[in-house]
Amino acid sequence: MVASRSARERKAAAEAGPLATVKIDLDDEKQFVYKVGCTTCVARGDRPWSTYRAGADNGYLAAMDRWTFHLVEKHPGTEAPCLAYLSAAQQRLHDRREQRS
Ligand SMILES: [Zn+2]
Repeated sequence: MVASRSARERKAAAEAGPLATVKIDLDDEKQFVYKVGCTTCVARGDRPWSTYRAGADNGYLAAMDRWTFHLVEKHPGTEAPCLAYLSAAQQRLHDRREQRS
């Protein structure tokens, strides 16, 4: 469990690129909780930007999608492997909105 968590953490950190800090915790139900933070952004209240998503693969995708959008919005021109999945992330966002309406 611990090994797979740190392996996931390394993979997520590699995909998120140099601006991100990625941390994976376990919640009370032993589910992965993904936390992706931005090393350069300071959000309101002097707290660094971060996103927090629970759940194994869904949580990973949701946190990574949010991070990808953050990079595009706030740090255009930054290189990160996750940007390769931008169109897939936009499609997922679109699909989630469709499901809600
Ligand atoms: Zn940022």
